[in-house]
Amino acid sequence: MIETRSTCPYCGVGCGVIIESDGAQITGVRGDPQHPANFGRLCSKGSTLHLTASAQVNAQVRLLQPLQRFERGQAPQPVAWSGALDTVATRLADTVRTHGPDAVGVYVSGQLLTEDYYVFNKLTKGLLGTNNIDTNSRLCMSSAVAGYKQTLGADAPPACYDDLQHASTLFIVGANPAFAHPVLFRRVEDAKRANPDLKIIVCDVRRTDTAELADLFLPIQPGTDVALFHGMLSTMLWEGWVDSAFIAAHTEGFEALKATVRPYTPELVAQLCGITPAQLHQASRWFAGVQDDGSRRPSLSLYCQGLNQSSAGTDKNAALICLHLATGQIGKPGTGPFSLTGQPNAMGGREVGGLANLLSAHRDLANPQHRAEVAALWGVDRVPERPGKTAVEMFQAAADGEIKALWIACTNPLHSLPDTSTVRRALERAEFVVLQDAFATTATAAYADVLLPATTWGEKEGTVTNSERRISRVRAAVPPPGPLDNGPRHDWRIAVDVGQRLERLLASPASSGTLFPYDSPESVWNEHRESTRGRDLDITGLSYAQLEQAPAQWPQPEGAAQGKARLYEDGVFPTSTGRARFVAADYRPVAEPRDARYPLALTTGRLRDQWHGMSRTGTLGRLFGHVREPVLSLHPQDMAVRGLTDGDIVSVRSRRGSLYIPVQASSDLLPTQAFVPMHWGPELLGGQDAQGAPATGVNSLTNPAYCPSSKQPEFKHSAIAVDKAVLPWGLVAMAWMPAEQALQIRSALGALLGGFRYAACGVFAGDDATQTGVWLRAAHETAVADEIVLRVEALMRLDGLATARYADARTGQRRSVRTRPQGADTVLAAFALAGDTRSQAWVAALLEQTGAVQALGRSLLAATSQPPLPMAAPAKVVCACFGVTEDAIQRGLEAASGDAAQRLGAVQQQLKCGTNCGSCVPQLQRMARLVAQPVAAT
Ligand code: SF4
Repeated sequence: MIETRSTCPYCGVGCGVIIESDGAQITGVRGDPQHPANFGRLCSKGSTLHLTASAQVNAQVRLLQPLQRFERGQAPQPVAWSGALDTVATRLADTVRTHGPDAVGVYVSGQLLTEDYYVFNKLTKGLLGTNNIDTNSRLCMSSAVAGYKQTLGADAPPACYDDLQHASTLFIVGANPAFAHPVLFRRVEDAKRANPDLKIIVCDVRRTDTAELADLFLPIQPGTDVALFHGMLSTMLWEGWVDSAFIAAHTEGFEALKATVRPYTPELVAQLCGITPAQLHQASRWFAGVQDDGSRRPSLSLYCQGLNQSSAGTDKNAALICLHLATGQIGKPGTGPFSLTGQPNAMGGREVGGLANLLSAHRDLANPQHRAEVAALWGVDRVPERPGKTAVEMFQAAADGEIKALWIACTNPLHSLPDTSTVRRALERAEFVVLQDAFATTATAAYADVLLPATTWGEKEGTVTNSERRISRVRAAVPPPGPLDNGPRHDWRIAVDVGQRLERLLASPASSGTLFPYDSPESVWNEHRESTRGRDLDITGLSYAQLEQAPAQWPQPEGAAQGKARLYEDGVFPTSTGRARFVAADYRPVAEPRDARYPLALTTGRLRDQWHGMSRTGTLGRLFGHVREPVLSLHPQDMAVRGLTDGDIVSVRSRRGSLYIPVQASSDLLPTQAFVPMHWGPELLGGQDAQGAPATGVNSLTNPAYCPSSKQPEFKHSAIAVDKAVLPWGLVAMAWMPAEQALQIRSALGALLGGFRYAACGVFAGDDATQTGVWLRAAHETAVADEIVLRVEALMRLDGLATARYADARTGQRRSVRTRPQGADTVLAAFALAGDTRSQAWVAALLEQTGAVQALGRSLLAATSQPPLPMAAPAKVVCACFGVTEDAIQRGLEAASGDAAQRLGAVQQQLKCGTNCGSCVPQLQRMARLVAQPVAAT
């Protein structure tokens, strides 16, 4: 067994991992105890990485060799790398010659490594001659970038993870780190344990698991963050809590901001935000940190997509940073605005300037001197001046016919961009679409003319930068799967291979003969390092050899022994005057307010155990133990007025799209608000829209309106209408399958989803690692065509001799069950219920619990909600690491004694739940508190 140090490929916490491998197979993963981001911890996603890299998973979901689709709508055919690369280069060159360079769009990803990003950026801006390169980081961090630059002068988060230990107040706003940055949240919990006086303010439109830890929860109305921040500053001014000395010495523009915030009285803010004046006062006091003796305690803000994904995203970031500047809460231990990066390398992409408005090393495209510097670094005459199209603009331009060729790498825009109907139109209308990806199963893959297989986690070499500016090495533990001479290649290598062909076709502008003289990721990184000389992120004092030893934070200029943990300790900021700038932007409401036709406010967010479009996490049944199926959450009051009960299917409409989805009540939301997890794309949540066309996932509903400064779209607020759907005909099918076939069967089921009004499918876990559960649920107004049901039955292997069946073609009823021997018993292996699905709960429970069914005979086919024998309800898994169910935890908590902490401690000792990754700890604490409450009351 070999151990290889690397980095988790999911979120921006950037945890170090140790990969265990045996030959060409990854066999295990654990947290790296020496990595300063996580000190050995991993969350549920990170700790299951090795399972997503198994030979079984790779064989079923990976793109293993280049493919070309010779006719759109047909299956793509395997081709050799040389042919695929020639095709891509020729089609791109033809597009440039015929329509000009701006007819090409390159759309990359915050999950690429810094080296990959660097080559893509140079190829697009230095060779193709267009700035049309953007990334899914535009959907994630561009408002944070713009906010930092407007106020502090550079895109540089000033704080670090250690600041959690020093803060006296934590202001967590528009972020749910309990789900989105779990290992960082463990550090928040540690900080609270170590210092019970630590005040935690959580501000969010939803009462998330993060709010469980809050001393003060501010459930603000969507989009009102700027009003809240201005109200806090107004209160601080009134109370004399601002730091006038800091403002005078280190900032400019405060008078204008003072005038802007003056009207934000407690009463107005309470009305706009939906909180009380007392809550506003409390938050302001804790944030300012002023003590009776005049000293000031440190305050740290943690924020993420709730601020960024907004049509006023830059203003929200800037207004929060202004609170830090006004109170001097920056540049000292335990202080500062600290944007939590969503993706593993959104930061690295920004460092190399891999966005439509940026250039290498935090240079600005709009700055002629910066363009000249980059042209000199690259050895080309010029870098194009015209700003490129950002993510939303790029796909709109392709849908409009302006962009003719799209090169998409390591991302799935048909899942992740807002208004996915427009994205689908873009992919259909573009004359040439290249998808470079590790996975063959994404929705975007169906529209690619050429598919280039890329290596992925465990196979790649390079670097990433996490939220605290820390650069870590990503290392290969195994070779990629696939044919030896025609298998996946590294992303930077593919870009070089295409780039060198394009140089021959377009005549390279490089003075040295080629723009791509690279033979390793290190050679790319060295060029990137040189581009940072003298810039705010200068890493000329770092080398790959040093990074081999330990991750390092930037900046680390030549001669510096180490990087900087925190920035601006001297009060000097990277602006033209050295002073930080206050920004006097007024509060602007959401782009699409609720109205009579669309009376509910939809927000999106993450599930605890899933990542983005689930192309990787969605391969593991156990990561669906927490939440298995798509569901829209509504406040109980909004359920009641629509006559809805949990599980009803509703029609959801926005101005852009529609879909059908089950609904559930949630008191975590305020009335008039709705929530849906962002992960459900068209791969697993199918069905049809209101016009009968195939639905395009939850982002068919979301709003592409974007912040004018950052161009980041407003995922966090879309006006929607929700109505009960009348879909009396149902279909529920579940089966245990050999693990080496389950994901292929799921993909085949996915291809059928468009035949129903509502349909979703997925996998679930069993106790036996050789078996994976596959499920499909669908509903329609009337019975669908027989061949669709027969196809589902065939995929679930309900067409053989071991299948018992009931069918009534006249009423559209079909029920079938397949059994198999297990020891002395017979257990349920698969079932499909079409038409009347009343028996689904108990039949599903029998299948999942693998209970003996030999005595039940044909009663398994009965259309009744009453089980033929007494049985327990299906278990809901809370702890994904140890498979501990809600029931077992509840029983344990009730049997234990003492307060909530004591009961939880006893249960954890007994069941181990929450003792590995800790992702379920907030839920365990909530359960413990509920059980302990009666004790506390007596
Ligand atoms: Fe990976 Fe979880 Fe760490 Fe994020 S918190 S980097 S997902 S292990």
